[in-house]
Amino acid sequence: MQIISTLQDLMYARTQWSGPVGFVPTMGYLHEGHLALYRSARTESQTLIGSIFVNPIQFAPHEDLNRYPRDLERDLSTLESIGVDVVFTPSTETMYPSDFTTYVVPEGPLATQAEGATRPGHFRGVATVVLKLFQLVQPDIVYFGQKDAQQTAVITHMIQDFNMPIKLRALPTVREADGLAMSSRNSYLAPPQREAATILYQALQAGRAAIETHPQSSPAEVVQAMKDVLAREPQIRLDYAEIRDARTFLQLEVLQPPALLLIAAWIGQTRLIDNFVFQADGSWNTGQFAGHSSSRT
Ligand code: AMP
Repeated sequence: MQIISTLQDLMYARTQWSGPVGFVPTMGYLHEGHLALYRSARTESQTLIGSIFVNPIQFAPHEDLNRYPRDLERDLSTLESIGVDVVFTPSTETMYPSDFTTYVVPEGPLATQAEGATRPGHFRGVATVVLKLFQLVQPDIVYFGQKDAQQTAVITHMIQDFNMPIKLRALPTVREADGLAMSSRNSYLAPPQREAATILYQALQAGRAAIETHPQSSPAEVVQAMKDVLAREPQIRLDYAEIRDARTFLQLEVLQPPALLLIAAWIGQTRLIDNFVFQADGSWNTGQFAGHSSSRT
């Protein structure tokens, strides 16, 4: 496995790659959710590229950039064991030299609602770094997680808007045995907080159950079912619990798929997000449990 951190080395290495080139961008501190993306990418890529870069411009000044967990050595040995061919680990100065000027600014509800409302500027940072990484790696197929549903939707749109010759695969959320969506940020949670964090999954399950038992429910009733569960956990500070159109991220007036049940909540200083997808055909994509390859619905 080749580890590359300069643009020059990447440009040269790229001339040696044969397609299809698969690419999985991450911020590192890898867990089974990331690894599911890499494993899937490995099966259909001739050359498999990963990147590890904690992108400062997607964090607001008050957010957790400085304490974001890192363990490059462990990440590299994990990626090597999966058979990744090249890992790109640029420095911040390499990605954003002091005269850096041009940003990608996604607009409309897809980028300004939900995560976009709570984290203004977040998707500008995400779209900008992802466009740069796509330009550098020139992948044929890229892999993103359903866990970050809105991010994946924003990138899907960017690919379409800019006519990029790239296929995007969105893979199911990988969960811990008790349902907590895997996230590098879970490492911030103290044991009682970690226990409390499962309430997000339970609330999503309650939202799903509300839809399944009363298909005529209003979106507000489904949201209330989720909020009732979240209210049982005193350590939770809710940011939002919502049901939105999965394509536009607009609020639903009538409950119909494709829709997303979305939750963002704080536990102490840690902000967690999770979602279930109520798919167009009426089935559910609720993710999969680590160590299992099939999705549990
Ligand atoms: P991050 O390192 O958090 O920026 O995530 C890198 C990629 O991994 C993104 O496409 C995420 O959506 C994806 N990802 C993160 N957590 C999970 C998870 N639990 N299951 C599936 N994909 C995930």
